[in-house]
Amino acid sequence: MASDPTNVREIRDGVLARQVSAAEVTRAALMGIARSNASLNAFTQVFENRAMENAARVDARVAAGDRLPLAGVPVAIKDNMCTGPDLWTAGDGFGYAGLTTCASRILENYSSQFTATAVQRLIDAGAIIVGKANMDEFAMGSSTERSIFGPTRNPWDESRVAGGSSGGSAAAVGAGLVPLALGSDTGGSIRQPAAFCGVLGLKPTYGRVSRYGLVAFASSLDQIGPLTRSADDAAIALEVMSGKDALDATSSTHEPPRAAGLDSHDASPLTLGVVRQGRSGANHPSVADALERAIQEYTKLGAKIVEVDLPLIDHGIAAYYIVAPAEASSNLARLDGVRYGRRAALKPGEGLEDLYARSRGEGFGPEVKRRIMLGTHVLSSGYYDAYYNTALKVRRKLLGDFERAFETCDALLLPSTPGPAFKIGEKTDDPIAMYLEDVYTVIVNLAGLPALSMPAGLADVGGKKLPVGVQLIGRMFDEARLLSIARRFERATQWHAARPG
Ligand code: GLN
Repeated sequence: MASDPTNVREIRDGVLARQVSAAEVTRAALMGIARSNASLNAFTQVFENRAMENAARVDARVAAGDRLPLAGVPVAIKDNMCTGPDLWTAGDGFGYAGLTTCASRILENYSSQFTATAVQRLIDAGAIIVGKANMDEFAMGSSTERSIFGPTRNPWDESRVAGGSSGGSAAAVGAGLVPLALGSDTGGSIRQPAAFCGVLGLKPTYGRVSRYGLVAFASSLDQIGPLTRSADDAAIALEVMSGKDALDATSSTHEPPRAAGLDSHDASPLTLGVVRQGRSGANHPSVADALERAIQEYTKLGAKIVEVDLPLIDHGIAAYYIVAPAEASSNLARLDGVRYGRRAALKPGEGLEDLYARSRGEGFGPEVKRRIMLGTHVLSSGYYDAYYNTALKVRRKLLGDFERAFETCDALLLPSTPGPAFKIGEKTDDPIAMYLEDVYTVIVNLAGLPALSMPAGLADVGGKKLPVGVQLIGRMFDEARLLSIARRFERATQWHAARPG
């Protein structure tokens, strides 16, 4: 096959030029998944037959002259995005049956009757959905170990986690099984696994991509975004997914960022704000090193470097772990075993209360239960002001800090995570250690800003090479500039081209 199977643009161009067919690309992707998934556990389901049918349809559209921007591109979708028979757009047969489990017992048999807008937009652009990607249950976690399907393994070192909660999506792209995957990011779930698996992960501005059909975790923080091997590929996917959707009132009317628009930013002068708190002594040496080398690289590229302060970074975690569970406790209330969710069997004499308690007790895993209890506690009368309202105040102050920081620079640079991928099992008994993974990422969701993690080096850990990422945070709706800044770094360093093994 002529085109690089890990490159969105090359596949698309190859399919449009009819050098390769969508069917060939899809078959190759399915074969790769069949070879690697038993060890990686990146996919929860693979749509072998549907994918081939849909590839044939894309080939027919291409033959008819349709210039599809994602023609024949195989995509993995995180298993918290609905993929259903297509009921709400014109019946062109582009439906994908299959489950949307959120990696939870309570949704293990849930088959959605509709498709998430972001997924539908990819399909309409010619992408081939090859399967659903593993995740932490309801996207709560940083390791993809809390899944009813078992942990996803890191393609760079299978004894380590892929990160989470979009670990299946990151591992699938990192292993070269698909060139594009969708993840969701509420507090870092696209960027942290991207850093662990050596790929680029973009969390768009809040409202940039419709959340319709994304199973809600914390509605004021959730965003869908792409995981790819390069900034260019992320830009192509983002352009297709973005834009107003009548089915999500919070989706923005801003013009979608054009992939071609990156070029116009390439030559603009750049001031990067290095976040002082990101240079913490608590970082793993490989992370500290990658960050300093990234600063040097940008200096060589002509960027002006300034130092900025985000004094509330440490309070970000506290605020996030109040706001996110509060919203989750409300969002997950619908899973009661009656309308939604697996219904528990009742014993003689048991009633409705027992049905709720039993269905939820059996259906939710321990971390989800912990979040529901945390969330209902911080929202209960008597504690609401002390916790929830205080967290909202931190959130507002944080936004002010970001606004001040962006007065002096175009984008912020800081680590994506405090360290590289950790061992499977290392943090499962210590929820606080797991939560601290998110120290550099949750602040971005609290403020609604766009941010990405990109490959910025390789750590030598225990005789293995592990990817390290750095994070760029941009102004609201400034994704095109952010991706152009990332692309300059890619061109200069080629870290994005490193492959496991
Ligand atoms: N790791 C964070 C959490 O557990 C973030 C999750 C996410 O972004 N979905 O809440």
